[in-house]
Formats: sequence, C-alpha cells, structure tokens
Amino acid sequence: MSGKTVPIGCVVIFLIAIIVPIEGDAAGDDAARYDHYRLYRVELATDEQVQLFQQLEAKSDSCTFYGHARQPGQQLTIMVSASKVADFEDLLTLHGVNGRLLERNMQQLIDREAATVKPITTEPTELGWEHYYQLETIYAWMESLASRYPEHVTTLDIGQSYEGRPIKGVKLSRRPDNKAIVVEGGIHAREWISPATATFLLHELITSEDPAVQEIGTAYDWYFFPIVNPDGYRFTFTGDRLWRKNRKPYGLCRGVDLNRNFDSNWGGTGSSNDPCSYDFSGSGPFSEPESIAIANFLRANVDTARIRTYIALHSYSQLLMFPYGHTAEKVSNYDDLQSITDKAIEALTAVNGTVYRGGSKHETIYPSSGGSIDWAYQPGGIPVSLTFELRGPPDSTDMFILPAEQILPVGRETLAAFVAIVREAARLGYYDKM
Ligand SMILES: [Zn+2]
Repeated sequence: MSGKTVPIGCVVIFLIAIIVPIEGDAAGDDAARYDHYRLYRVELATDEQVQLFQQLEAKSDSCTFYGHARQPGQQLTIMVSASKVADFEDLLTLHGVNGRLLERNMQQLIDREAATVKPITTEPTELGWEHYYQLETIYAWMESLASRYPEHVTTLDIGQSYEGRPIKGVKLSRRPDNKAIVVEGGIHAREWISPATATFLLHELITSEDPAVQEIGTAYDWYFFPIVNPDGYRFTFTGDRLWRKNRKPYGLCRGVDLNRNFDSNWGGTGSSNDPCSYDFSGSGPFSEPESIAIANFLRANVDTARIRTYIALHSYSQLLMFPYGHTAEKVSNYDDLQSITDKAIEALTAVNGTVYRGGSKHETIYPSSGGSIDWAYQPGGIPVSLTFELRGPPDSTDMFILPAEQILPVGRETLAAFVAIVREAARLGYYDKM
C-alpha cells in the first residue's frame, strides 16, 4: 500500500461518524459497556475464603465488588468481566466457594432500561413515575412546582457541583412555625430509584387527597433534594450507567463517594483512601462541593427551620437504618430509632408485602464512615436521621437497574413508611421539644 492511499476502513468509519452523530442525551460510543459481564452472589464460609476475596478485590480490575469481604457467613455480590468469567468460576471451584449466577449479561439489563428512558428534551409537565427521567427534566419539574403552587412551594439552590451544576431543592411549607423534615436523594449516581422516589413523595405531599398524607404534608415543612450528586447522575446517562461517585478528578481516577466524605469518623472503617475505589472518601473531610453544600444548608437551617428529621434514599437491599455506620456503639436514642424503624417497616410491608430489615447501619448493612445521616445526627443535631436502601432485595439480579414499572409500587410503600416515621417520631415527642 502506497503512503498516499487512504485505508478503506478509515473512510467507512469516517462516514459512519458523519451519518450517526452521538446525541447529547444518550450514552455515546465511548460510554462504558458491560457486554457479557456476569453478576454473582457468593457466600463466604471460612476465614480462608474471606481472605481470598479480600485479595481478589485488591488485585483484580476485572471483578467489581458491591461491598467488601469481611467475615465468614457473609454474602457478597460481585460483577465479573466477560474475559475473567472462566477464571472466576475456576476460583470458586478450587476453593469450594458457594457461588450463584444472578445475571449473565449486564449490558442487556442496561440496554433494556435505556430504551425506556425519556429524552432530555421531555417537558417537565410530562414527568411521571412510569419512566426514569434525566437531570434536566427533574430540575425543570421542580421549578414548575414552584410556579404551579406559588403559595407554599419554593425552590432553592444550596450550592454547585464540581462541574458547576446547581444542587437544587424544593421547600414545601403550608403553615408557619412547622418542624421540618429534609429528604436527600441521588447521592449515589447509579441508584436511579432514589431520585424517582424522592419526586414521587414530594408530589404526593403536595397533591395527595389521602388524609394521612395531607396531614404530614401540612403539619411539617419538607425540604427535598432529589439529586445531590448531579454530575454523577448526568454521567450515568452519558458515560457509565453504573457510576456511583461525584466526578472530581484525583490523579488516575475520578470521583469521591460523597456518602463517605462527611466529617463523621471520616476516613475510618468502610471507606477507602484509594481514588480508584468505589468508596473513596476524598482528600479530607468535606473535600467535595456537594457534601459541603448539604452540610452548610443543615448548619444554617437546623435551628431556624426547626429540622428534626433527615431521611436519605439509597438502593438497593430493602433496609431502613439509623446511626451509626462506623461503630457498634449505640446512639443515645437507639430504642426510639429502633421503634420508629419497626413501625415504618410494618407500614411499608403492609402495602405490597415487600420485606425489609431495620436497625443501626453498623449492625444491618456493613461498617461505613463519613456518611451523611451520621453527620446529620451528630454533630448536625438532627435526632431522627434515617437511611432507606430501597428495592430490590440483597440478592437482586437488577442491582441498581430496577425496572421502571417498580417506581410506583416503591413510591407507594415508601410513602406509607414516611407517614409511619412521622407519626411515631411525633408520638415519641421529637416534634415537641425546643
Ligand atoms: Zn447508595
């Protein structure tokens, strides 16, 4: 081939590039793909198996861990890249590890879901709860609430993300001097059911004709922040559906786990100092603009707005939890929080039969440090601080890719839990004091 000949392959690729432009609101050619990636659920029976999986997580880029190997008796979900499936199966056999294949092709799940996502140009009036929506639509919808219900709904911007997007909230207030409840969504980008549930709950509190919902929507002020990690959420639509952290660069890798970045036992157990890890805690407590924004909002308003409850929405595992994440030590109002949690789960399960477990974060899910509800509780001074891990179950085959037809049932059962939380916290006097 002479030096002047243009290879035909290049011409073809060039033409394809012209006729198939990458849309701004869709995952482009360079988005992460998970073709034939498999999802496994393993059960670690012995100390030797725990150590083996700790080494595997440290050494292998091909295995994505959802949680860390810690103790015998524990179950763990791991995603394995296509090229390492044979090695992984071999490892299970060689060491007698009990493993179950949950999903054969993660990309198929992602593609199926992507086909149902509404485009970025969707009008805010079209927002509903049978599809997932993009950041721009959700933000425009929040603004539209303030125009539709100007007498008791206002929007607020509490800061900017690393990439300069606003961190937007909605305040609902029907009466003066109410005690207030704050709801945090979307701190982990890939947990799409979290913002979807936050917008559902907010909409119900504004429009529901159910007397129990009207009561909590009237007798309390509500602050909703459905997407506190807007850069990450945006990136899950354009770059990587399974992205969790924010998007700030740290050397080789990007992103801090914002729910490890709060100044509550920062950098301790259940967080990582490796920027490439999914639970990287940042370069210091409150190193990230998104976590600073939430903390500053709470510091400035906890007393003046009478904030008594803070609820964070995550997925998945079907858990309702309270502080602390970093220690087994019980908080001073442990029994009250356990009672609130029990009542909430009872009410939630009554709606669709969904099974939840409840307790402190440390005893219920796994040890973690630097979380928002721990900080909101102490030093934040908010006595009823809770975290939901919404659907699916711990051995979910969908993980964060919960089918959109589950948004409404999740919303309805979570709303029942919210009513129960407020009622039980009120009965225990949390909205009387001060
Ligand atoms: Zn989460």
